[in-house]
Amino acid sequence: MKLAILGATGSIGTQGLEVVEDLRGIKEIEVVGISGNKNLKLLEEQIRRFHVPFAAVPEEADAKALATAVADTDCKVLSGKEGLCYLAAETGADMLLSAIVGFSGMLPTLKAIEAGIDIALANKETLVTAGPIFMDAVEKYGVRLLPVDSEHSAIFQSLHAGERKELSKILLTASGGPFYGKTREELEAVTLAQALKHPNWSMGAKITIDSATLMNKGLEVIEAKWLFDVEIEDIEVVVQRESIIHSMVEFCDHSVIAQLGLPSMKHPIQYAFTYPERLPAKGERISFSDLGRISFGKPDEDTFRCLALAKEAGSMGGIMPTVLNAANEVAVGAFLQEKIRFLEIAEYVEKTMDRFENIQAPTIEDLLKADRAVRELGI
Ligand code: NDP
Ligand code: MG
Repeated sequence: MKLAILGATGSIGTQGLEVVEDLRGIKEIEVVGISGNKNLKLLEEQIRRFHVPFAAVPEEADAKALATAVADTDCKVLSGKEGLCYLAAETGADMLLSAIVGFSGMLPTLKAIEAGIDIALANKETLVTAGPIFMDAVEKYGVRLLPVDSEHSAIFQSLHAGERKELSKILLTASGGPFYGKTREELEAVTLAQALKHPNWSMGAKITIDSATLMNKGLEVIEAKWLFDVEIEDIEVVVQRESIIHSMVEFCDHSVIAQLGLPSMKHPIQYAFTYPERLPAKGERISFSDLGRISFGKPDEDTFRCLALAKEAGSMGGIMPTVLNAANEVAVGAFLQEKIRFLEIAEYVEKTMDRFENIQAPTIEDLLKADRAVRELGI
């Protein structure tokens, strides 16, 4: 298989490359293109380690610096939106691991679909922003859209136990993040460092903050809606503190089927790379007798408003998920720079959603315009 990776220098991207190495001798994967943003040092190492023929970064100046650094290799370095789109769609890949963080991953991922390339999708913001456009393109170009998000991979795997028409609901599990059980008053004072400490998962900064606000779960509800063609009301978020049950589905006979495992993104990444096969994995496996217990709870949507706002945007459809996502990216960016407080993330998202008139059945231009308008508003 030939693989291109958008966001190769990130948490998912680097784990994707580890899976490529883990699978050597079992399934050969040739890495034909990788992209990064600011971590040029790591990108250079990856180019050398995997003999990658194409690399791309958004900024022209970074592309020049990288091209100089790898001048002794055969790697061609591209830049800008066009460079990322070329890398995703035209480097001969059979599969694209879409692992850029945020909306910037949308156009290159769409280009790959239009080029008939299967997608291993980590970049959930793209599906939240442009769900109908993506799903129509997936159908039109006959590609596979394989979820990498652990919950959606679990749902995808669990759905194999029955017929689609037998499904009654999806049980999307949530760890609850670092602030589970806290009151609004307690959240007033939480710091960036506390929000960046996830109890179970080690991830990029943006998704770690999304996990603390529960926006990540909200984005995942919308992601599930599009991936599995279900209504928002048929997706129940269940807190499962230890992140062992990655999600479940309930069928019409009340049977519940779940997928379990240790919290490692390498499992869903590998499954997306090898689907429909299952191939031997490296690393630790789960020991239930050592684990002891698995606990459950309910999310508190009054305190963690982002989850409620995302469900609302998901039900409204149109440009609202785009507005929600862009507002969240702006607010999380400001929180990461310690310009706003934790609770202000939800406040800003809500205020921004109130400012926009919805447009039903938006075109891709409407979505790009809405995304831009939110970012121009700033914080
Ligand atoms: P990281 O922040 O670790 O990595 C992001 C990647 O995107 C890096 O390669 C980064 O480059 C690149 N990047 C950042 N901004 C831009 C930009 N404007 N244009 C092009 N490339 C850019 O994120 P994660 O790996 O944690 O997350 C990636 C996606 O996967 C997100 O959508 C997230 O929600 C999703 N996801 C992540 C999970 C995880 O466990 N990490 C779990 C489930 C989903 P550089 O580092 O060189 O600057
Ligand atoms: Mg997830």
